[in-house]
Amino acid sequence: MPLVLPPAVPDPQLGHLPPRPAAADLPAMESVGLVQPYQARKRYLCPGCQGYIEMGEGHLVVVPEHSPDLRRHWHRACWHRERRRRHGRRH
Ligand SMILES: [Zn+2]
Repeated sequence: MPLVLPPAVPDPQLGHLPPRPAAADLPAMESVGLVQPYQARKRYLCPGCQGYIEMGEGHLVVVPEHSPDLRRHWHRACWHRERRRRHGRRH
């Protein structure tokens, strides 16, 4: 016997939501964590200055919310400069 599916009923609430913005329109959201000197157990390459963050040096770890695989370690000063470079003109 044929399988009868219930008719698709549009959800009235969904109809009132604004369309979801494309990911490219959203500001890049990162979570920034502080890495204490005792937590820095290896050397990291800072993407801001292409220099090394030495072992035992306190720094920041920046994790994009939508791509946690892309976490990067930054010197604090380099990250603040990067943030100004990214956001400075909008504020
Ligand atoms: Zn740096």
